[in-house]
Amino acid sequence: MTIISHDTSAVSMQALVFDGALRVGHLPRPVPGPGEVLIRVSICGISRADLDMIQGRRPVQVRPIILGHQFVGEVEATGDPTAKAWIGKRVVAQPHRGCGGCGACRRKERWLCMVDRGRALGMGLIDGAFAEWIVAHVDSLIEVPDSVDDEDASFAYPVASALAAIDHVVGPPPQRILVVGDGNMGLLITLMLHAAGHTVSVLGRHPSRRDLLWRSGISFSGVQAGTDGDARPEDDFARGSFSTVFECSGKPSGLELALGAARPRGRLVLVSYHGGQPGFELSRVVENEIELWGVNGGSLLAAVNYLESRKLDTLPLVSGRLPLSKGADGFQQAIRRGTLRILLENETAYRGGM
Ligand SMILES: [Zn+2]
Repeated sequence: MTIISHDTSAVSMQALVFDGALRVGHLPRPVPGPGEVLIRVSICGISRADLDMIQGRRPVQVRPIILGHQFVGEVEATGDPTAKAWIGKRVVAQPHRGCGGCGACRRKERWLCMVDRGRALGMGLIDGAFAEWIVAHVDSLIEVPDSVDDEDASFAYPVASALAAIDHVVGPPPQRILVVGDGNMGLLITLMLHAAGHTVSVLGRHPSRRDLLWRSGISFSGVQAGTDGDARPEDDFARGSFSTVFECSGKPSGLELALGAARPRGRLVLVSYHGGQPGFELSRVVENEIELWGVNGGSLLAAVNYLESRKLDTLPLVSGRLPLSKGADGFQQAIRRGTLRILLENETAYRGGM
């Protein structure tokens, strides 16, 4: 393993650095400027976006860089005297900085900023949270209550997106809803839809999910890996009978299946990033008057409140916890087919929550 070493006069920290490959190294601890705080990271989850970046499906503008944006930690210091009240608080942070002045930023929907979409913690341009410390803007912070432990809090970012996606469900529960894709986001949305009282079916590629979902009374249909668009006419999901369909597979075949499953004037909610050309028939959208919605983020405050309500058990969604020093191994596990969320823990951090 290569150890990256920089300036040794500053206080150093351990970090998982990406420069085409992932390596554990020691970098200077970042220093918070005006409007910023220094956060000691407790846990950072490996997300689909992280995998997309290291595997070349999403751009990484700066190298070397620290990835990771789905984190929780404790504020230790600030470069802003007016932010001292944050010191000692456990927080999650909205990774997108935005311009701060446009309509989207003022609505606290910085991931939709039309001026500066690129600057986001851990997304290829600014250092993220696979490190002992991270610097974040005060405006981006959401306090985590003691009743939400670190592991749950590390789900705040995907839960925020899932809540935003679920907002698009047509009609009050119970609705018949299909989720296409049984990865992290697909399962998260499925469990949250089920908790909201909807009747959910899942179409996925991992038969091992059947038991996990069956315990919650959710039906699972398997689509064989490596086949595209292989819905049979007798399959429930092929009849175009669902009022709302969530596309969480990120695959062209998943998108095609999702489109075919939505009933006329139904809604198709696209949650996954599609790196390639989808190649689905747009005419089907027109013929069936399907509403298309994209979801790219959501309110972290709403997510923390949701986690506090204890409607979601995150335990079945975690495949492993590794120390930051084994971060590259964590990524290897996360890449493996069928793996759910992998959490990287900062061994030197205080473990917060109950
Ligand atoms: Zn803006």
